Formats: sequence, structure tokens, C-alpha cells
Amino acid sequence: MAHNITARQQKLLYSIQRKFLLNITGAYNSTPTAALQAIKGLMPVHIKAKMQSTLVRLCHLDRNCDYEGSAFCAIEIQAITKTWKAKLTLANTVFQAEILALKAAIQWANTENEEVNIWSDSESILQALKSLYVKSKIIQEAQIILIGNARIRLGWGKAHIGLKGNETAYTLTKEATTDGILANLQFPKSYLKNQLLQISLSHWQAEWDNGETGRSMFSIILKISNKQQHWSRECIQFETGHGPFPSFLNRFGLHSKNGGCGEIGNPLHYATRCPLPLSYQHKDPSTQFIVHWWKSALSRKLSRRNIYRLIKFLATNEDLIKSQNTTPSHTSA
Ligand SMILES: [Zn+2]
Repeated sequence: MAHNITARQQKLLYSIQRKFLLNITGAYNSTPTAALQAIKGLMPVHIKAKMQSTLVRLCHLDRNCDYEGSAFCAIEIQAITKTWKAKLTLANTVFQAEILALKAAIQWANTENEEVNIWSDSESILQALKSLYVKSKIIQEAQIILIGNARIRLGWGKAHIGLKGNETAYTLTKEATTDGILANLQFPKSYLKNQLLQISLSHWQAEWDNGETGRSMFSIILKISNKQQHWSRECIQFETGHGPFPSFLNRFGLHSKNGGCGEIGNPLHYATRCPLPLSYQHKDPSTQFIVHWWKSALSRKLSRRNIYRLIKFLATNEDLIKSQNTTPSHTSA
């Protein structure tokens, strides 16, 4: 499976997802895709495709890929008495390489009939070893040994500084990447999936942050997530402005920009100032609070219900929103 998606494939996937998004949201055809993705919590399909192909690739790892080294050494009165090294594929994390080495050290210490102090430079591993809630099988196995053997002590030592043996362990780790025995560590697929999801979400976030479309939505949904906002199509129309508003219909030469009252008929106008659908009025925000106004209008359930009613009203009373004293722009222009 190709890992990199060509621009053409990306375009195709994009258009398929766009159709699907328009379908499930019932949004207007002109609504920016990026906005719809953010609302529905649907990852852009090119990012998703990349995530899937990475997952497939990691699950059928090539034999000649790069390796991560994992090693420990034992020192007794200044002399190295034991070394151990292994290599892991890069599908395994640094964390796994460290825990593997630590577990190997614990196993070895368990066979020695004396007190052994084991030093690790990884605080997270030492924390994990103390935790009762770890799911990692390697850590659980190491914990069982530690519980049964009080002669093994664990300590933390800063990487590559001061501690004897650190240099050796470091060199061993480097060596292990080429001549180490391959440790066949299966990563739980769920873990991999989750890691990939996090990476993909941050890609998506970066695209959303730097995007050019859906910017009004961006001020409301700053942080992307794969959970959907429970907005009705009416709320989407309201937020994007792509709905039954004179300001929008005007783009197609179908309508004057102004509503029946003579003012520019955009969503904000109908929600706040227009005398026509009086019962749906929201409070008119001052300019510096506009973004906040949109946010709160769409985040509260009650307010979303009001918006829903307002848009329904506008959609079914087209004659009311039509300007009475101006002719449609396509004839006047
Ligand atoms: Zn009006």
C-alpha cells in the first residue's frame, strides 16, 4: 500500500468526503469543507488515509527497517560483569526499549544471589513500575519479580552523567541497533492506533490553525477533536452564513443583500436586530464581544434551539425576508 498519497488521490478523497459531509449535515453546497469537518469531528480524509496506511505498514513491518537499541550492563567493583543488548523495530517506542532493558536487568538481578541496585535514567519507567494500573505485560512481569525479590533496588540516575556504566550502556545501545538480537515485541494494536490518532489529530489541528476557509468557525471551534458538535443543519447554516439569508442568497444574484426591514439580512441581524422574527431575538453584542457572542450562541443548548427555530422561520417565510423596496441585484445591476 502506498504510504504517500498523491495530490490527485487527495483531491478525489476530499471530494468524496465533502459529498458525504454535505449529505449528513444538510449544509449548503457552498459551506467550507474544513468547517464541516470541524463540526462533525470528521478528520480530513487525506490525514485519515495516511493514518490507516501507516497502521497497515507498522503491522506488517519490513525486515530491513531501522532499529532502536535496548541495553543494560552490570558493574561490580568497577568492572563490568554482565552486558545485555537487544534491538527493537522502530514501531516500538523509546519507552519500550527502556522498559525492555530494565526488565532484562531485573530478570538478571533475580538470578544473582546478592543485592543489586539497578539504575535507570527514565523516570517514567520507574513510575510505571510503581503503578498498580499498568497494562503493559513487560512491566507487569517486571513488577512480579520485584515483589518477590527484596534484594533488587531501583534508582534513578540522570542520563550520561556521573553514573558509572552509563557510558557502557549507551555504547551497548548503539551497538544493539546493528548486532543486537531482535526482541520481538508486539505492540498492542490499540496502543499504536491511539498514538497514530493523536499524531493525526495534531496534523489536522495544524491544518485547521493555518487554513484559509471556515475561518468564522475557527473562532468558535478552536480545538479540533474527533467528537462531533451536536449542531443541527440550521445551526450550521446560521454559523457559516450559508443559509436562507438575503446576505447569502445575494451571492448568486438571487436576492438583494437586504432583508424585508431594509437592513443587511445576515444571521447576526436576524438573531439580534431584525424586527421581523421578534420572538427569536438574541442580545445584540458590542463589537469587541462578537466572537464571544457566537461562541455562546452555539454552545448553549437553549440558544441552539432558538437558532434552529429562527432559521426554520426564515426558510419557511421567504417572502418576509425578501426586501420589499429593492429589486433583486441581478436585474438592478
Ligand atoms: Zn431585518
